[in-house]
Amino acid sequence: MTAEPIDQAGRDRLSLPDTIVKGKIRWSYALPIFALHLLALLAVLPWFFSWTGVILMVLCVHLFGQAINLCYHRILTHRSAVLPKWLEHFFVLVALCCMEDTPGKWVSMHRYHHNHSDHEEDPHSPLVTFLWSHIGWLIIENSATHNIATYRKFAPDILKDSFYMKMEKSYSWVWVYVAHAVLFFLVGFAIGWATGTVMSGVQFGASLLVWGVFVRTVAVWHITWSVNSLTHLFGYSNYKTDDHSRNNWFVAILTVGEGWHNNHHHDPASASNQHRWWEIDVTYYQIKLLEKLGLASKVIPPRHLRRKASERRMEADKLQATVDAQVSEQSNR
Ligand SMILES: [Zn+2]
Ligand SMILES: [Zn+2]
Repeated sequence: MTAEPIDQAGRDRLSLPDTIVKGKIRWSYALPIFALHLLALLAVLPWFFSWTGVILMVLCVHLFGQAINLCYHRILTHRSAVLPKWLEHFFVLVALCCMEDTPGKWVSMHRYHHNHSDHEEDPHSPLVTFLWSHIGWLIIENSATHNIATYRKFAPDILKDSFYMKMEKSYSWVWVYVAHAVLFFLVGFAIGWATGTVMSGVQFGASLLVWGVFVRTVAVWHITWSVNSLTHLFGYSNYKTDDHSRNNWFVAILTVGEGWHNNHHHDPASASNQHRWWEIDVTYYQIKLLEKLGLASKVIPPRHLRRKASERRMEADKLQATVDAQVSEQSNR
């Protein structure tokens, strides 16, 4: 990949990574992405409409989306806090209902991105093109990123967990997605049938399936993908980082905090992306809530607070050393 002349907006341009196998489609990604977009389009047909379905979709964008933002990103990728294993595994099962890949692959790709953001090997820099970073990188083969050696290198801590490692060995995790889709339909069918005819059951179940699963999955995809594309193109920066990360309020609203991406690239370990009072980070508040409930520990504070804490520790150590010296001097007299 080579850096190219600066474009009209003043950004460096990048060409496709050298490791891209041009013309080689990753069908295991391309087909589900294409199929679920088609299925989500069923929502334009009035037969599939119900207000319950629409409201469920909005609620589930947040509920399922947070399994990605909070668990895959902040907990698993950046280890910004520690959850009990049972809760971490539960969130991962919810994340699988977003069809955004296994934790091993997701974490590995995101750490790869942080290591090379907007540079040669970044798997999804929008400095190539917006479309490449939003979706192209997922469906075109990249020999450097999509292999078990890379997953082992970038996510060894994840693959150490046998529950996650099993997911790398087959596509059986896809059944979690299928099972939750069937459950949405069956619950809707039961409610519709109980309050009407068998046909109204089928219609209500189908409405929950289309809106609550298909439309929601596609919405969560585009919201996650916007962090890769929009927040490396548009917005402001609080910090000069070695990339083109930006704080983007629109993505911050959609992702309840992930859009403060320049803050995040400046301090990826922090559980909080909120560096100014108005940079609201609901995901961080949720982590703090889990901490208050005794369900999260070792929550990593922002860098400036970490620095203050380490300065305080150094001061205390210095004071202790002085006291120790005085005590030993007195006892030697
Ligand atoms: Zn980034
Ligand atoms: Zn990150």
